[in-house]
Amino acid sequence: MDGGNSFDILILGAGPAGISAALTAHARGRSAAVLGADPMGSPLARAERIENYPGLAGMSGRDMLAAMLGDLERRGIPRATGRITAGMAFSGQFMVSLEQDVYQARAIILAAGAQQGAEPLPGERELLGRGVSYCATCDGMLYRGKRVAVLGLGSGSEADRDFLESIGCQVLYLTGAQAKNAEIRGEDTVTAIFAGGEEHAVDGVFVLRDTVAAEALLPGLEMTDGHIRVGPDMQTSVPGAFAAGDCTGRPYQIARAVGQGNTAALAADRYLKEHEK
Ligand SMILES: Cc1cc2nc3c(=O)[nH]c(=O)nc-3n(C[C@H](O)[C@H](O)[C@H](O)COP(=O)(O)OP(=O)(O)OC[C@H]3O[C@@H](n4cnc5c(N)ncnc54)[C@H](O)[C@@H]3O)c2cc1C
Repeated sequence: MDGGNSFDILILGAGPAGISAALTAHARGRSAAVLGADPMGSPLARAERIENYPGLAGMSGRDMLAAMLGDLERRGIPRATGRITAGMAFSGQFMVSLEQDVYQARAIILAAGAQQGAEPLPGERELLGRGVSYCATCDGMLYRGKRVAVLGLGSGSEADRDFLESIGCQVLYLTGAQAKNAEIRGEDTVTAIFAGGEEHAVDGVFVLRDTVAAEALLPGLEMTDGHIRVGPDMQTSVPGAFAAGDCTGRPYQIARAVGQGNTAALAADRYLKEHEK
């Protein structure tokens, strides 16, 4: 991504909802950037044939995504690829970490898809920020010379393990069933991980999934039945934060995601105008 890391609107997730939101934000004259994992990892990329999207029936999910991404490219809308690990709202600004970079905006649109299979591990939520981390590059240095567990619950976690070892961490690397069934233990901070029938003393645990639960991405976000609670204009419980697509609930459908992305971007534009007065 060229230029600075500061935008009017940041869009989290490069699926149909996020892409639609970005196109509308751009059409409204807003600077917007789309942050997210490789879009070809979106569920849509696994759809063999889409039969219910007007005008494009019969197209594969991959082709549809490629066409949507082409729309971003043609308009010069910036996109950064990687894992989003954290977001926060502070004095009318949002800060979002993507790998080791931090992006900033006055409004955000969460379009991170449905968080299927991302149930938090025992102890994960309670000890988040107190030994539990989602980002080795961001927080690794805090554990230099210490014992950490790396739970590889998504793709590419070997690179995080190698990085932590390279900076002097003693790494317990767990994948598969051991990682999936692990329990993070500690009172005020992480002290151990229980996995494979054994307790291992550790100072930190890196939980590495391809996605991060929405409520962990933005503190204060109200959820309902595992989805982000939104009003009719896609406003979340956090002022200036909007949400669109599968992350807001069922039915999980492209047309709904695209429509909500459009509504969220228009609402974000209105919010910015009101706060510019
Ligand atoms: C096999 C299959 C077939 C389908 N067929 C159809 C169909 O025929 N018709 C139809 O209407 N719908 C279909 N769907 C549903 C459709 O794919 C979804 O409704 C649609 O993709 C939702 O779009 P979205 O933008 O809300 O979320 P997504 O497409 O899920 O996009 C969200 C993006 O955000 C990224 N992300 C999330 N968290 C993070 C993070 N922490 N860091 C970085 N990136 C992150 C994800 O990796 C993903 O790329 C199908 C789904 C599947 C799985």
